[in-house]
Amino acid sequence: MKKWIAWLLVCCMWLPVCTAEREIDWSKPIVALTFDDGPSEYTPRVLELLEQYGCTATFFMLGNRMSHYSDAVRLVAESENEIASHSWDHANLVTLSYQDMLENVLMSKNKIKTMTGRDAQFLRAPYGMNNKDLFTVCGKLDLVLVHWSNDSMDWDVKTPEEVYERVLNQLQNGDIILCHDTYEHTVIALETLLPELINRGYQVVSVAELLSNCGGISNRLRYFKLDLSKVPQQ
Ligand SMILES: [Zn+2]
Repeated sequence: MKKWIAWLLVCCMWLPVCTAEREIDWSKPIVALTFDDGPSEYTPRVLELLEQYGCTATFFMLGNRMSHYSDAVRLVAESENEIASHSWDHANLVTLSYQDMLENVLMSKNKIKTMTGRDAQFLRAPYGMNNKDLFTVCGKLDLVLVHWSNDSMDWDVKTPEEVYERVLNQLQNGDIILCHDTYEHTVIALETLLPELINRGYQVVSVAELLSNCGGISNRLRYFKLDLSKVPQQ
């Protein structure tokens, strides 16, 4: 039995996740690459590296940073990469009232729409914390709550080598890899990590692309564990 792809918390109505335009070979290994907490001054360099190696990623942005790094936001929006929400201000959403939580996430979703014209499909909760209210908020705003399965720990480790080793040591087909485009050591790690993933035969894609062939998502509130062996082959 093939390894699990990733833990996903699903709290949405049926979503149009089948938006991938790039060709994906579902017989080959695949991972989604994600960046939290940006945009930042490092985001353009991340985009350069993604393009250089034919990879894409999902950028879970903080709404209150987007105007400050508007050029970086524009570059992501003009690329094949995906923009999603990481809340407005990295508040621990589960500590907020339902109304404050709703406004926080809605502000970030609206910011993405205003600055890029895109409708965010995904939310990554700060600290990965969720509760019943957050499921309800996501359902109301048509967002899928996306967790991760491979934590680079780049917020904790301090060198590119540690980030590189951390990701590769736990690498599994179908991983959703968590990084942050706010650290220089992460960007430097990508210079060797991306070609190594390619060398190992992996396709490096966005979350939407990873889910583009999963046959849709249930509208019921539930934990969702996607098994690559159940993804229909193209
Ligand atoms: Zn974060």
